[in-house]
Amino acid sequence: LGDEVLEKRRKFLGPSLFYYYQKPLNIVEGKMQYLFDENGKRYLDAFAGIVTVSCGHCHPEVLNAIVEQSKLLQHATTIYLHHAIADFAEALASKMPGNLKVVYFVNSGSEANELAMLMARLYSGNLEMISLRNAYHGGSSGTIGLTALNTWKYSIPQGEIHHVVNPDPYRGIFGSNASMYAKDVQDHIDYGTSGKVAGFIAETIQGVGGAVELAPGYLKLVYDMVHKAGGLCIADEVQTGFGRTGSQYWGFETQGVIPDIVTMAKGIGNGLPLGAVVTTPEIASVMAQKIQFNTFGGNPVCSAGGHAVLRVLDKEKRQEHCADLGSHLTARFRDLQERYDIIGDVRGRGLMLGIELVTDRKEKTPAKAETAILFEKLRELGVLVGKGGLHGNVFRIKPPMCFNKDDADFLVDAFDYALSKL
Ligand code: PMP
Repeated sequence: LGDEVLEKRRKFLGPSLFYYYQKPLNIVEGKMQYLFDENGKRYLDAFAGIVTVSCGHCHPEVLNAIVEQSKLLQHATTIYLHHAIADFAEALASKMPGNLKVVYFVNSGSEANELAMLMARLYSGNLEMISLRNAYHGGSSGTIGLTALNTWKYSIPQGEIHHVVNPDPYRGIFGSNASMYAKDVQDHIDYGTSGKVAGFIAETIQGVGGAVELAPGYLKLVYDMVHKAGGLCIADEVQTGFGRTGSQYWGFETQGVIPDIVTMAKGIGNGLPLGAVVTTPEIASVMAQKIQFNTFGGNPVCSAGGHAVLRVLDKEKRQEHCADLGSHLTARFRDLQERYDIIGDVRGRGLMLGIELVTDRKEKTPAKAETAILFEKLRELGVLVGKGGLHGNVFRIKPPMCFNKDDADFLVDAFDYALSKL
């Protein structure tokens, strides 16, 4: 079955698609924190379809909301009224701090960031954007410029986008010194741009970049600089949102800032194609003079599903759970780090963790080959994790939030066993 799927995929789907594992995994079913392959083998999913399945695969309450709405009305667009989109917008706005109360629905993270960039440019009247090296903000023609990871191998001219030094406490040139990194932003504004910028965008824990948490205090300094240069500050919460970081509902709260625009996708829909942009009435009023239209954005089925996700995360107290389980996982991985020199760094928050492998702790030489071997071994043991980072040597641990303590222990024990066999 898997071979047939692979053959069809090669024949009919674009060659730029990539897959994990030497022999790709053919998944046929998902149940909460588990995935099942064509032979019925069960895998513990510690990557959640790239940090997307927030409540759990086919979570009954989310599934029920999707099914019931699908029976009633699947599509109408926003040229008519329907309650699902309005109710969902109200629920989402209630989760936002400050004056962030106006919601736009789209279908993906890239679309959300495209719209955020458009808003920043229209509101400020400026063009130039600033993003961090090692960031991922999307794969569309506009957001590819914000995505500053060379692994994506595009060279589309993006003259109006500037990439600043990444405030990475582990590999960054200034360690955890937020003000030195922030100075690089000011230097870019002063010497690299016209002096007026449209906006600045960042994740607070870089996802694809390998669970890199920005140096503490960085965003506060940079938001001030960007505002002074006439720009808006955008928080990309596509991976960090909805309580995954444990300590806070939104990643930006861990840096003590309130952005002008927040973008979200992935976990908001538990797997449905859904994204959102939330901003203030003042910024939204600039958009009111234009037409902003999205055929599928906030369609009844995705709205009902997304609304159910918010309810489930609250009801099941997932934010608190992410905090507790994240501490447990971090402590257990730190124990492993003491026993295996190859573990250079254990980082992240809540259920958004990164384990970086190096062959030399001082030089931080990426252990690429060892990462690849371990990755295959974990799969054999029935554990699925993500890979990332600029050098591809970071394991990304970002399971569905229904992951429990036994799952966490099984995951770390699998790492321990695989490491002992290296
Ligand atoms: N922002 C971040 C932080 C992401 O991780 C991603 C996807 N990996 C995106 C934006 C783009 O989302 P999408 O793939 O839904 O367009």
